[in-house]
Amino acid sequence: MKYLSTRAAASSTERKRFCEILLEGLAPDGGLYLPQSYPQVSDATLSAWRTVYHQQGYAALAFEILSLYIDDIPAADLRALCDKTYTAEVFGTREIVPLRPVEQGLWIEALSNGPTLAFKDMAMQLLGNLFEYELARRGEELNILGATSGDTGSAAEYAMRGKKGVRVFMTSPNGRMSPFQQAQMFSLQDANIYNIAVEGVFDDCQDIVKAVSNDLEFKRKYKIGTVNSINWARLLAQVVYYFAGYIQATETNDQKVSFAVPSGNFGNVCAGHVARMMGLPIAQLVVATNENDVLDEFFRTGVYRVRGSADTFETSSPSMDISKASNFERFVFDLLGRDGTRVKGLFGDALNREGRFDLSADPLFAQAASRYGFVSGKSTHPDRLATIRATFAQHGFMIDTHTADALKVGLEKRSAAHPMVVLETALPIKFAATIVEALGLEPERPVRFEGIEALPKRVQVMAADAAPIKALIARECGY
Ligand SMILES: *Cc1c(COP(=O)(O)O)cnc(C)c1O
Repeated sequence: MKYLSTRAAASSTERKRFCEILLEGLAPDGGLYLPQSYPQVSDATLSAWRTVYHQQGYAALAFEILSLYIDDIPAADLRALCDKTYTAEVFGTREIVPLRPVEQGLWIEALSNGPTLAFKDMAMQLLGNLFEYELARRGEELNILGATSGDTGSAAEYAMRGKKGVRVFMTSPNGRMSPFQQAQMFSLQDANIYNIAVEGVFDDCQDIVKAVSNDLEFKRKYKIGTVNSINWARLLAQVVYYFAGYIQATETNDQKVSFAVPSGNFGNVCAGHVARMMGLPIAQLVVATNENDVLDEFFRTGVYRVRGSADTFETSSPSMDISKASNFERFVFDLLGRDGTRVKGLFGDALNREGRFDLSADPLFAQAASRYGFVSGKSTHPDRLATIRATFAQHGFMIDTHTADALKVGLEKRSAAHPMVVLETALPIKFAATIVEALGLEPERPVRFEGIEALPKRVQVMAADAAPIKALIARECGY
C-alpha cells in the first residue's frame, strides 16, 4: 500500500509507504496523506472477521485491518504491536469497545475506557507502540511538542509515557483545564513526560508550538514532531472500532448500520468514511456538531466557512470546539473524485484568501449524502442538558456531554430501516460540572482515579514565550 497527498496533482507519482508517513505530519505540499486506494472487504472476509473478533478478540481484528494498509512492518511484529495495545487490562473489557443497548435498534459504543477515559486512547495507545517500534528500528529519537486544552494532551502523554526514544513536551494554559484533567496529566511521574503550564490561553500554547516548528533548524536538530489528529496512523486505528461496532450490532452482513459521531476535527467520522469505502455496510454517517457548527453548515449548505477566534465558542462539549476541521480535506478529496489540484485550490488558496469555499453549485456536493451517506445536525448546551437528563431518567445511566451531542442528533436522523450506533467519546467524569448541572449528581469515578487530585504534580509554569521552552528541550536532549 502506498500513500499520496490530498493536494497531489494527477501527474504526480510521489507515493510513500506507511512508516515514512508515520512520523510525519502534513505532506510537504500542505496536504494530508491518504491511501492510493481503499482495500475492498468482501462479504466472505467480513464474515471471517466476525469470527476473528468473537473468538480471538479486538487486537486480532485490528491486525487484520491494519495489515491491509501497512506492508512495511513484518506481520508478526504488527500482530505483536496490536496484541500489546488492545488488552483488557488497558481498556477495561475483553470486547475493548462493548456496545451498550439503549433501546431496540440503538446502542452506545463504549470507546472511552482507556487510560484517559476518552476515545483518543483508542488510536493514541497504538501510536505510542508504533512510534517506539519505528524509532528503535531507525535508531532515532523524537521530541513531541504539543498544545492541549484537555483530551489530546493527556491521551498523548499516557500513550508515550515510558516509551524509549520519545519525549513529550506538552503545553497547556495554566489553570484553565478542569481539576480532573490537570490531575490526570500532571500526576504522571515518567521522566520522558514534561508538563508545561503556560501563563496564557490555549492560543498562546499553539503559537509557541508554531514558533518552535517554524524554526526549521531547531526542528531538525531536535527532531520535533507532533501527534495531532491529521496523523494517518491515528485515523487508521479508528477504522477498527467501526468494524467492531458493526459486528456486535449485527448477526449477518446483509444488515446496514448507521453511526452517529460527535465531531470536531473530523478525524473520528473520517475513519467511519474509510470503513464505509472499504465496503462495511454503513447506512448513514451522522455528523453531530455542537455550537461550533462548521461541519453541519457544510453538509447542509455546501459552504465550508472556517471561523475566526471571535466566532469560536467555548462550550460544554469542549473537545468539539473547533474553528476548522483539520481532517475534512480528506473527505473533500474523495468527494471531488480525488482531484488533488482542485483540493489544493480550495484548501490551499480559497481558504487562505477568503476563509471559505462553496460547493453548493457543484453536482458532486449532492453525493456527500447520496453516495457517501453523510448527514449532519447540531446540538447546543440546552440540548446536551436535556439529552443527559432524558437518558438518565429513561435508561438509568450517565453519558458525557460529547456523547449527548451525538445521541441528540442521532435520534433526529435515525430511520426505522437501520439500527444505529452512537459513539461514546468520553466518560461523564471528565466533564463533571455539566453532569452536575443536568442531574444534580456527581458522575461516578472509576476506582483507579480515586483521589488523583491529591497526588504530587510534575509540572513547570513558564511564560508564554517560545525561548524558554526551546531551552528546556535542548537541555533535556543534551545535544
Ligand atoms: C477529540 C474529541 C472529539 C472530536 O473528535 P474528532 O475526531 O476531532 O472529530 C469528540 N469528543 C471527545 C470527547 C473528544 O476528545
